Amino acid sequence: MTLPGGAVEEAARLLDGLAQREVPLGPLTTYRVGGPAALFVEASSVDDLGRVAGAVAATGLPTLVVGKGSNLLVADAGFPGVAVVLGAAFAEIAIDGTRVEAGGAAALPVAARRTVRGGLTGFEWAVGVPGSIGGAVRMNAGGHGSDMAASLIEARIVSLLRPGDDAVVPLAHLELGYRRSAVAPHQVVVAATLGLRPGDREAGEREIAEIVAWRRANQPGGQNAGSVFVNPLDDSAGRLIDAAGCKGLRLGSAEVSPKHANFFQADAGGSADDVRALMEAVRRRVRDHSGVDLRPETRLVGFHNPQPRAEPPVEVEG
Ligand SMILES: Cc1cc2nc3c(=O)[nH]c(=O)nc-3n(C[C@H](O)[C@H](O)[C@H](O)COP(=O)(O)OP(=O)(O)OC[C@H]3O[C@@H](n4cnc5c(N)ncnc54)[C@H](O)[C@@H]3O)c2cc1C
Repeated sequence: MTLPGGAVEEAARLLDGLAQREVPLGPLTTYRVGGPAALFVEASSVDDLGRVAGAVAATGLPTLVVGKGSNLLVADAGFPGVAVVLGAAFAEIAIDGTRVEAGGAAALPVAARRTVRGGLTGFEWAVGVPGSIGGAVRMNAGGHGSDMAASLIEARIVSLLRPGDDAVVPLAHLELGYRRSAVAPHQVVVAATLGLRPGDREAGEREIAEIVAWRRANQPGGQNAGSVFVNPLDDSAGRLIDAAGCKGLRLGSAEVSPKHANFFQADAGGSADDVRALMEAVRRRVRDHSGVDLRPETRLVGFHNPQPRAEPPVEVEG
């Protein structure tokens, strides 16, 4: 990506004291690989986000919102813009009857356990998804027969492009579909309102324990970002990858998990570019084997110089 000359310096000047330079993003992701953000802001308030928007509007710097980093692969070269993380002020969860107000930085497993403890049902599925509320709205995260769309009422969204653009957007306008939404890369979900149902606390706790046990039995731990590809209609990406003979396939420091073919593992100290190369290799092999072109679920960040190739590159964020 070609940036206007001096944009990073100018944005750093405008963000005086709020932004840090060259902050490694790998440790903020579950892959734990990848390079730094040119600028990094941990926002403590909506005003901080407004300041970022002012700097972005003035400089044209690209933006990246980082939640829990459980669905992100950041290139080894890093991200040449401003990465924004929501701070602890955005992690609150408040229950009022069957309505739950959760900050964009609240952890899904915490929200799942809190709502069950609060006598509600409908959000148990989220205990197994290591993301944030904001990332879950953007991705329409889901599992165990449910997803965000099933309980989301509205989300408060702040723009990182237009200072002061701060709106509560109803579910119908968020266009939540299978692992996708209309939330754009420059939009920050700072809070979400969920509508749940009265439930039995003990039954909820049993369900949570079952989900946790199922995850431990069926999914690998370690450095991965969950499912790499979304499931095609009426099929499973893991089954297709396995059928194409890719289980255990290794490219440099990245490997297709021998436990679950749609999870790719990065070695400690490994390379994000290896993970991406493995994604492309697996995608090619599956297409050759079954004719299915897998669509990535993992959001790719900073991969701006794809090698020429016969097939379209995997989707890149921003
Ligand atoms: C072991 C494991 C199991 C998983 N299982 C599941 C599963 O069962 N179901 C499932 O759906 N996913 C699963 N995931 C993937 C991941 O947890 C979800 O996609 C989650 O919603 C991502 O949230 P996050 O906060 O980590 O987002 P990130 O990975 O940080 O970001 C993902 C995307 O959301 C954007 N984003 C993040 N925060 C915000 C925000 N506040 N506002 C606007 N945009 C934002 C980012 O810019 C990026 O585009 C799994 C991941 C792992 C590691």
